Amino acid sequence: MAKNMEHYTEAWDNAPTIEGKDPNKTRKCPVCGQELHRYEYCQNGKNPMGWDVEHINGKQRDDTPSNLVAVHHKCNETKPKLLFCDHITQKIDDANAKK
Ligand SMILES: [Zn+2]
Repeated sequence: MAKNMEHYTEAWDNAPTIEGKDPNKTRKCPVCGQELHRYEYCQNGKNPMGWDVEHINGKQRDDTPSNLVAVHHKCNETKPKLLFCDHITQKIDDANAKK
């Protein structure tokens, strides 16, 4: 688990957006597909629907911005080792295309 506050924004920005919702306030959990609320950051133990910074590829455990995403506390328990997040895959594809 990447705990650093510096990764908070990066992880949030990597979570999928929801059409019609403000992406600064509400995003989609890549595990369960339900809403994440930005103000509920790091409420572990108090709020299972709060969220934290997690690795997309849990096998790599590196804290590069492209490997971080916002995930519910409750979903971290069931999170697969490798999260398939279209939003991030697209970003990586775009970055590679520019090279
Ligand atoms: Zn979730």
